[in-house]
Amino acid sequence: MNLDNFLTDSNGQVIDNPRYYRTIRGKLAKAQRKLSRRARRVKRSQRRLSEAKNYQRQRLLEARLQPKVANQRKNFLHHVSTALIKNHDLVVAEELRSKNMLRNHALAMSISDVGWRTLLSMLAYKADLYGRKFLTINPRNTTQTCSHCGHIMTGKNKLTLADREWTCPSCGTFHVRDQNAARNILAKGLATL
Ligand SMILES: [Zn+2]
Repeated sequence: MNLDNFLTDSNGQVIDNPRYYRTIRGKLAKAQRKLSRRARRVKRSQRRLSEAKNYQRQRLLEARLQPKVANQRKNFLHHVSTALIKNHDLVVAEELRSKNMLRNHALAMSISDVGWRTLLSMLAYKADLYGRKFLTINPRNTTQTCSHCGHIMTGKNKLTLADREWTCPSCGTFHVRDQNAARNILAKGLATL
């Protein structure tokens, strides 16, 4: 799981963040701005909000958008989790690094935003439902380890968030960062079985 896309699996499949969700969230923000603008106008003219038709119409519009955003996100997460569980006997994911990641506020916002935590809980109960196995593992070194030879990138060779692709200095294997990490996550999961 990362912030550039929603997730990458060990087969190399990349699932993007839902774009429609961003769009509707933009609409919601716009509706909220319009609503507070109307509220200010009503106050300035010393009328009551309950009697201001334009304000009330906008209030309803905004209230209708809220559950729409939540529903679209939930649908997306259901779609992804069902496909993963139905098509695989074993699904392994990394535990969310909440403590470290949440220290960065912008990152924390994005994490709650894309709903990884909800996805993990959906994967867990759907695995039970369909008789599959779902595990989470400690993400330590899953990005920094070469899934081909086990070499670990350390010190100044450590990969940063900007390194999308890299070549292992030990065995020369070319890696797409997240796909390599996904392979390591799967291997860690298999090792615990
Ligand atoms: Zn290697």
